[in-house]
Amino acid sequence: MRDPECLFCKIVHKEIDSTLVSESERALAFRDINPAAPTHVLIIPKDHLVSVRELTTAHGELIGEIFELAAQIASDEGLEDYRLVSNVGPGAGQSVFHLHFHVLGGRSMSWPPG
Ligand code: 5GP
Ligand code: ZN
Repeated sequence: MRDPECLFCKIVHKEIDSTLVSESERALAFRDINPAAPTHVLIIPKDHLVSVRELTTAHGELIGEIFELAAQIASDEGLEDYRLVSNVGPGAGQSVFHLHFHVLGGRSMSWPPG
């Protein structure tokens, strides 16, 4: 359930400080330490999972909570448009290997991402 070496597990267990945005039974949302947009929030499961690659139908409640949190955060932050991103693997930009979704908004964004 927890990886003792994992940065985001340490955030879940309050061993590393973060700016909490909101929380549900299974998920936590906090501000990215190096924001890439005026709103940049990370939503993570409280239990350790490496990436979306591990998600199955067994994680249905967790997935629902994460997407509800994303919509609530976007609404609270006044975001009409926003981007919800999960990088899978280093080649796609993943640098922390605890599943997270980026909620990015507050500026215009281009496509495709770099
Ligand atoms: P990834 O590159 O894995 O998709 O995203 C990891 C994100 O975690 C990055 O945007 C990075 O700025 C953020 N991050 C890394 N270390 C910390 C930290 O200690 N606290 C917070 N709040 N965010 C972090
Ligand atoms: Zn972890």
